[in-house]
Amino acid sequence: AKPAYQFDAIVIGTGPGGEGAAMQLAKAGKKVAVIEKYHAVGGGCTHWGTIPSKALRHSVSRLIEYNTTPLFADNHVSRNLTFSDIMQHASGVIKSQSRLRSTFYDRNRVTLIHGEASFIDAHTVEITRNDGSKEIITGEKTAIATGSRPYCPKDIDFNHPRIYNSDTILNLDHEPQSIIIYGAGVIGTEYASIFRGLGVKVDLVNMRDRLLSFLDAEISDALSYHLWNNGVVIRHTESYSSVEGREDSVILNLESGKRMRADCLLFANGRTGNTDMLNLQNVGLKADSRGQLKVNHNYQTEVDNIYAIGDVIGYPSLASAAYNQGRFAAEAMLHGNANAQLVEDIPTGIYTIPEISSVGKNEQELTQLKIPYEVGRAQFKHLARAQIASTQVGSLKILFHRETKEVLGIHCFGERASEIVHIGQAIMQQQGGGNTIEYFINTTFNYPTMAEAYRVAALNGLNRVFND
Ligand code: FAD
Repeated sequence: AKPAYQFDAIVIGTGPGGEGAAMQLAKAGKKVAVIEKYHAVGGGCTHWGTIPSKALRHSVSRLIEYNTTPLFADNHVSRNLTFSDIMQHASGVIKSQSRLRSTFYDRNRVTLIHGEASFIDAHTVEITRNDGSKEIITGEKTAIATGSRPYCPKDIDFNHPRIYNSDTILNLDHEPQSIIIYGAGVIGTEYASIFRGLGVKVDLVNMRDRLLSFLDAEISDALSYHLWNNGVVIRHTESYSSVEGREDSVILNLESGKRMRADCLLFANGRTGNTDMLNLQNVGLKADSRGQLKVNHNYQTEVDNIYAIGDVIGYPSLASAAYNQGRFAAEAMLHGNANAQLVEDIPTGIYTIPEISSVGKNEQELTQLKIPYEVGRAQFKHLARAQIASTQVGSLKILFHRETKEVLGIHCFGERASEIVHIGQAIMQQQGGGNTIEYFINTTFNYPTMAEAYRVAALNGLNRVFND
């Protein structure tokens, strides 16, 4: 007979991955326990990652709008806004998001246990509460959704008051005059935009020779230009040799021999999966050197009844992806098959100022694959809606197959890019010939809108084909 477990499923972590899995399982009538070591639900996503950085970004980008739009700036509509107001707004958003998310667990009758989970065996999990007391529960299946934390090399003193990582930067209680951001990935470039928008002197150190090299090269160049134009100093192909935390400043020594000094340092160079406290050896699992777990297409680890989702399995390490991975893993637990989305269909949203978003292939990839493609472009500054909003920066780029006209990629740089991209994404996913660039010409767009960029870009692209 089947052994009797206390729970049908145990989910470890309440970030988007854990939430997606827990809700899907609970809605299917399963008895679910969720374990969270932090005192509130929502995960790194809500408390240290996506939500706070987006709330900060939003305030700063409004501030820039007020300071640069002549109508507002000339009439001094701008601010008495302080750094602490902006931080307070972010913590208000965190609290209300976390509160909202905790109602999901209540409403779906999920048992939420606060404490740190570790495996005793594949069906038994021990929970250590903050006060040291322990509880043991059993479950038929388990989903590991423990997320990730900033990679903090041992030779840097992260306890120094001027040295931050992407979690602790939220503890900053005053606006620095200058900051060095080490690591020009998504998190580094987003924080570079935020600090520069506040008027802070920003040095951004990039280990590679271009920013965000996974992006379409034109978009990555646009970001570099825009950051440079706004005064961010970018140093490419550099890496640190040592960091000196001083009383009045922090010094970053580079392998190239350069020395940089600033009020503080944000070290944002990669993340590590949270697997070290799970006692994985008790179930025969082993994380790789970055703390990440390997899974199959059903998000199942090498141990049949244990699944893993979200940042703990690595790429693409996005909240958006984590939530769906949780749902897919739950589907696999319920029905044996996840029917998961392909990674390449997941859009990229980068919340620099302005934003970047893309879906599908970029020009480099299409060239490498020898796919005959054409490009349609629209500059935001030519759109009525953008002119009304005094938006000068931004563009939309549609890549499409020269012969079939199938849309192959959408790349957007500019305000609201992360929303605008979804129009193109929806068209790309149409079946039966509905996924061609002609859709954007045969459709009536609201006027004036930013969405109209699709029509302008489509006309531009098709003209290039016909004018051959
Ligand atoms: P998490 O959200 O990290 O949640 C994991 C949870 O597990 C945590 O609550 C943790 O306390 C808990 N936990 C860990 N170990 C244990 C244990 N042993 N027992 C019990 N509980 C445990 N993604 C986007 O899509 N868009 C963005 O704009 C975006 N911006 C970001 C900005 C920053 C600065 C950062 C750092 C990340 C950003 N991300 C963004 C990425 C996104 O936050 C992560 O991909 C997402 O949070 C991953 O979700 P998760 O469920 O895997 O883990």
